[in-house]
Amino acid sequence: MLIRVVPLGNLNDRVLEVLCAQLEIFFNSKCRLLRKIEIPPEAHNRFRKQYNAETIMNFIADVPEVKFIDKDIPTLIITDEDMYYRGMNFCFGLEDPTKSAFIVSTARLRPEFYDEQPNDKKTIERLIKEAIHEIGHSKGLYHCINPKCVMCFSPSVSDIDIKARDFCENCKIRMMTKGIEF
Ligand SMILES: [Zn+2]
Ligand SMILES: [Zn+2]
Repeated sequence: MLIRVVPLGNLNDRVLEVLCAQLEIFFNSKCRLLRKIEIPPEAHNRFRKQYNAETIMNFIADVPEVKFIDKDIPTLIITDEDMYYRGMNFCFGLEDPTKSAFIVSTARLRPEFYDEQPNDKKTIERLIKEAIHEIGHSKGLYHCINPKCVMCFSPSVSDIDIKARDFCENCKIRMMTKGIEF
């Protein structure tokens, strides 16, 4: 499997390098880091001080080198900006299952968002879990009821912290039937 990572707007290079390296090890796959794309200004909502995840996704779908041609290649778009989706206060991420594309925001994965000490290690660990979760979706996995499983739905960062950076046995078997070797 090939995984593509697209930085959207300014992001810490080290975060992206660690993410790619860890995804390569975890999925025993190649991870390609594409060039940075500027965040579309029209996605910004100045009243909410957040970006509309849907607008970003529509914009990204038209960027030539990112065009999601092969549905078998999961594409992770990573942004540092806080996002929202329709009536929700915020969203950690959004998927476009038809294109196997996912946006993940690091804004609320950072401890400093909750007035805690900045901790890059913690932020990266949460980001890796969210990335693995989205790649699981890209292979057709649904949310899992096991709170320790990476496919469990996480409405808050504490739920992300409870999860392991791994699929439960059931989800692992499902991934293996999709041809993913661990
Ligand atoms: Zn999910
Ligand atoms: Zn599971």
